[in-house]
This record gives sequence, structure tokens and C-alpha cells, in this order.
Amino acid sequence: MTFVFGADADTSADSDTDTGADAQADAAEMCRMVEAFARRELGDVPDPFAPAEFRRRWLLAGGQGLVGSVVPTAYGGSGLDPVTAAAVLEALGHGSPDTGFAFSVAAHLFATVMPIVEFGTEEQKRRWLPALCSGERIAAHAITEPEAGSDTLALRTRAVREGDHYVLDGAKAFTTNAPVADVFVVQAATAPGGGFFGLTAFVVEADTPGLTVGPAYDKVGLRGSPTADVRLDGCVVPASHVLGAEGAGASVFAGSMKWERTCLFAAYLGAMRRVLDSTVAHVKEREQFGVPIGGFQAVSHRVVDMTLALESARLLLREAARGLARGSEDEVAPALAKLAVSEAAVRIGLDAVQLRGALGVLSGGDAETLLRDALPARIFSGTNEIQKNNIARALGLGGNRRPGGGR
Ligand SMILES: Cc1cc2nc3c(=O)[nH]c(=O)nc-3n(C[C@H](O)[C@H](O)[C@H](O)COP(=O)(O)OP(=O)(O)OC[C@H]3O[C@@H](n4cnc5c(N)ncnc54)[C@H](O)[C@@H]3O)c2cc1C
Repeated sequence: MTFVFGADADTSADSDTDTGADAQADAAEMCRMVEAFARRELGDVPDPFAPAEFRRRWLLAGGQGLVGSVVPTAYGGSGLDPVTAAAVLEALGHGSPDTGFAFSVAAHLFATVMPIVEFGTEEQKRRWLPALCSGERIAAHAITEPEAGSDTLALRTRAVREGDHYVLDGAKAFTTNAPVADVFVVQAATAPGGGFFGLTAFVVEADTPGLTVGPAYDKVGLRGSPTADVRLDGCVVPASHVLGAEGAGASVFAGSMKWERTCLFAAYLGAMRRVLDSTVAHVKEREQFGVPIGGFQAVSHRVVDMTLALESARLLLREAARGLARGSEDEVAPALAKLAVSEAAVRIGLDAVQLRGALGVLSGGDAETLLRDALPARIFSGTNEIQKNNIARALGLGGNRRPGGGR
């Protein structure tokens, strides 16, 4: 069953009107159904990564409306507002231990599909969005390069216009979903050295001659999410595949980061809640010195600190999502949310391992899985140091972003 919310349904329910209460009830019911789906269909982390199983799961998630949750219904999406979409993603993260899968869904949706929604022409939207929302096609977003990570404006991939097309040459790294992607949004320099206006975003089909994908990386965490290098060798891309306009690549990228930093991390809130619940159960049950270990203050205070980290991170994420729903251009709220959730995930992962004693370090346990999945969260979507630079700059403290833009 696909959830289809009216495009203008405001489920953020800031008001206590009947409409707000109804929307809230609908959102809660949707979360329950997504969580049940996640428990039923995504109950493990396939390891090693299995592309056919990933595709199967993706199609099922598409059937639930998850891979196009915030896309307007006119293009095949579910039309959810950011607050509800984040709650639904949290339910997915809570119901399934496969945080990598939830991450892949979110990277597809927020970093690749939403740029097409926000910057695409009507023709581009009609061409690409329906299959990207139904689960038939998977998207990936490629900006990072071996020599350009935090410093995105230093990227070396070139796009040279020749008549009605561009020729793309370069190498991308760490592209989430690349091994299974059908459609890429690729950032390339059309005016090298041109700073903010030197980049252009292209929609590139995976079967375009010259586009090749390397083998999937073996990562410490998010093992259910495939990541790989992408090469572009003389890739001919029609000019009609430019997203936004020539020179608008940095704006397209900023838009994708606004969505990603705000909503993607909700999957971690669900994972943290799941691990916190099992940690509470463990410390109530495990006895040492004749009493449950949860009775020791050193243990119970640690659980309280974990709860505080999770709940404060959720509030910051919800605040950022409300801002996004209002159309706010504020950079600080998404940066704070990204920082808070990713740091809380590492902290809760570490504490959950510690509170399980030796059991915590056994492979495949929920605590050690969370810890492994949490480590990349401090790096992707702009590292936490870069988020601090952005917040410092907003506070008038400089921040060392190179003149003209970047992450
Ligand atoms: C799981 C995962 C998925 C990813 N998915 C994608 C994807 O789908 N598409 C994509 O394009 N990229 C993706 N990335 C790449 C990610 O965006 C980059 O790894 C990230 O931006 C950091 O770049 P880097 O790894 O080159 O680190 P670097 O930029 O080399 O940074 C190394 C260290 O230096 C610090 N540093 C650098 N510059 C500064 C500064 N100015 N001030 C303070 N500290 C600084 C960083 O914070 C970091 O601690 C993914 C990464 C991971 C881990």
C-alpha cells in the first residue's frame, strides 16, 4: 500500500486544530505501518551485500511510498512534509537493523531526487521522478572526488559543451548507491576556478557510454548501503540533462544538503531508540553482585545520559524539519541537527556496548552495529567539523569556507 498524502497536508501539526490533530493521527498510523513493514521485510542486514536482495527490498520500500516520500503526488511521490517524512524515516530505522538500507533510501531521496524536484524542468520531472518514486529506479549523487571531499569547489571533473551536449571526464569517490544506481546526479566544473558559479549538475543515466562504476567498498558500517567510485570517460550527456542551469551546480548541491542534513539523520534516531530500549531491558535483567546492574548509579546515569542525547537530538532535528517545511533558508538548524544526531549515535553506540560488557563486542549485536553505523555519520553530508565551521560563520566568527562557497 502506498501512502498518499495531499501535497498541502501540514502534518507538522503545530496547531491543535482538528485538521492538525487528524494529520497527526494519520502520521502516527503511517509510522506504525512503516515500522511493521520494516520488521517484516527488513529484519536483518544482508552481509555480504547482495544486489538482488537490495533491489527486492527497494521495490517493496517503493510500494510503501518510502523512496519518494517528500516528492509531490503529481510526480508519483507521497507528498509528505519534511516533519512527517522524518518521523517515517525514524520508524524505518526503529523497525529495521539495516540502517544502511535506510541511509541508501534517504541518500537517493534527499540528495538526488529532491534536486530534480526543486531544480528540474517539467519535462525532466516527468521523465525521471515517477520511476524513482515507485522503486523501479535507484538514484545516486556524485560530487565527492579523491582530491575534493570537504572542499567541493576544488573538484576536477570537467564538463565541456559541444553543441547540444556536454562531454564529462573525471573520477568520483564514495558515491552511495553507485553499484545499483540507474540515475546519477553528477557535479562537474563547467568553469574551472569559477568558484560558486563554476559548477553544473547533470542527470546522467547509468547506461551512458563512458560511465563506469567500481567495486563496492568494504565499509566498517552501513554495510547494507553500497558505495563505490564512479568514472566518467568522455561521457556524452545531452544539454537537456543539465539540472537548474549551467553554473547552478553549487545551488543544486546546497539544496540537497539542506534536505539531507535535516531529514536523513532521522533514520539514526530510530536506530538509537531501538538500541536504547534493548539496553534498558539488558540492565534490568543482567544481575551482578546479586542485583540488576541497572540499580548501580554508574549504570543508570549512563542510561539517562543516553536518553538525554537521543531526545535532544530529536528535538533539534524536528526543529530543522519544521524550518524546512516553512521554507526557511537557515543553515544553522540543519547543521545543528546533523551534529547532534551523529554525535549522539556514536555516544549511544559506545555506551550501549559498554553496558553489555563482553557481550557488547560480539559481532552482529545491536549495540556494536549501531556504533559501526554511527561512525560514517560524522563524515557524510559534510563532516561535523565543516558543520561547526558553518555554524561559526553564521555566528559571525568567520569559519574557513573558501570564498564563494563549498560545503
Ligand atoms: C558512508 C559515506 C557515504 C557517502 N556518500 C556520498 C555520496 O553519496 N556522494 C558524495 O558525493 N559523497 C559521499 N560521501 C563522501 C563525503 O561527503 C565526504 O567523505 C566528506 O565530505 C568528507 O570528505 P573527505 O572524506 O574527503 O574528508 P576530508 O575533506 O579530506 O577531511 C578530512 C578531515 O579534515 C577535516 N577538515 C577538512 N577541511 C576542514 C576545514 N576547513 N575545517 C576543519 N576541518 C576540516 C574534516 O572534517 C575531516 O575530519 C560519503 C561518505 C561516506 C563516509
